[in-house]
Amino acid sequence: MTEKLDKPTQDLSGKNVTVVGGARSGMAVCRLLTEVEATAFLTDQKEPVDWAEKKQELSQLGIEFEIDGHTKKSFEADLIVVSPGVPQDADILTKAGEKGIPVVSEVELASWFTNLPIAAVTGSNGKTTTTTMLAEMCRYGGYETFLAGNIGFPFSDAVRSILGNEPNNGLHVLEVSSFQMEHIHHFKPKVAVLLNLTADHLDRYANMDAYARAKMNILNNMTENDQVVYNKDDAELTPYLETSAMLVPFSLNTVPNALFTVNETKIYDAADEILIYLKDVSLPGKHNLSNFLAAATASNLLNIDSNAVGKVMSSFPGVEHRIEFVDNLDGVEFFNDSKATNVDSVEVALKSFDNPLIVIMGGLDKGGDFSQLTQFMKSNVKEIILVGKAAEIISEAFSGVVPTQNAGDIPLAVKTAFQSAQSGDVVLLSPGCASFDQFENFEERGDTFKAAVANLKRTAS
Ligand code: ADP
Repeated sequence: MTEKLDKPTQDLSGKNVTVVGGARSGMAVCRLLTEVEATAFLTDQKEPVDWAEKKQELSQLGIEFEIDGHTKKSFEADLIVVSPGVPQDADILTKAGEKGIPVVSEVELASWFTNLPIAAVTGSNGKTTTTTMLAEMCRYGGYETFLAGNIGFPFSDAVRSILGNEPNNGLHVLEVSSFQMEHIHHFKPKVAVLLNLTADHLDRYANMDAYARAKMNILNNMTENDQVVYNKDDAELTPYLETSAMLVPFSLNTVPNALFTVNETKIYDAADEILIYLKDVSLPGKHNLSNFLAAATASNLLNIDSNAVGKVMSSFPGVEHRIEFVDNLDGVEFFNDSKATNVDSVEVALKSFDNPLIVIMGGLDKGGDFSQLTQFMKSNVKEIILVGKAAEIISEAFSGVVPTQNAGDIPLAVKTAFQSAQSGDVVLLSPGCASFDQFENFEERGDTFKAAVANLKRTAS
């Protein structure tokens, strides 16, 4: 590991900075570095996706690069900025440490070039949903809100877009992953939101503790003037809540010091006024209620009034591919939860519905334990329609529990599900698997599902 940098500098002008990794955030760093007049050099071990376009952009920016390994030019640098995809034990980082070159993450670097407050959301599940909810509440609440981070728009691009021209009422709302919290030195949110901790990325971290500690770097530089919003219902978080910042819980139960309280029918705000009736909350599932409470609590700490919070709770349309309502055909509702790439997410989806379900599952197996779903399958799943490579594993896992049939691909699965369905049923794509056996990514899988539903509608009408 490299030493902690003494203090952040907003002046990298004339400095040599090596950027490791030519994916989305590495390219964003290159743009930001050019803007602040540093001399960037991009190094990658292999050709990044969409390389032709990126190469052209780098040439236009006047940035040199190498994409077939890290040569000694990589180390002719005052600073190394590492992309989230590069593991901490990568050779280039070990060597940088030996040579005494400071290493920072993309999020750290970007934070040096903004004076706006930051609200940052992390957790194992629900990050994108909660970050988007929070950004909406902040917009309604009057902030000029910049939504960025792990959500698909790098923080470096957001910072660059307002460099030297930051609005007085500006606020960054960031989704951050554990990978992005490695190599943090001075990154300091005003409000951090900790959603939950479940086993994830254990291919990259030695154990759960190492994964949790990487995530919890988010707290490193927070002080008593900052606030940490945390999920009191997740005991896994408790050992990691070491911070001098103010701790503010949220919970689906009644707990001391929570700003919002839920009972059987409604949510009350910090002034004990009715914020919203649960029947009017726009998204299904307790997990979404928990996400809303997290976003509401952070909003309150950012001085956003309850009206703005309640408005978003009643109107938020959800994020695409996360238990997304698609259509209703003859009383059968279709939901797209293509982002459910692991077993935990399928469990969350199954628990979100009271209606009889026909679930489309399968794809590329990630080694999860499907048996954890057995009790939920028994309670309200009529049938599982299978697709992709994991069809056999899933069919065996639920043998004797719920009927399964293998449709092979998503369009046929949608047709088959509709044939089996009756009015009042829900057809839910919640694969519990990665998509890479049949698709480029989960977005393409979700789009295919939605296109198949649209097609069904056309042919049925
Ligand atoms: P992330 O950005 O952390 O991957 P998303 O908001 O993209 O989270 O949601 C990913 C999956 O996790 C979706 O299938 C969603 O339904 C499920 N999910 C969302 N919020 C939660 C939560 N609080 N707890 C557990 N699962 C959740």
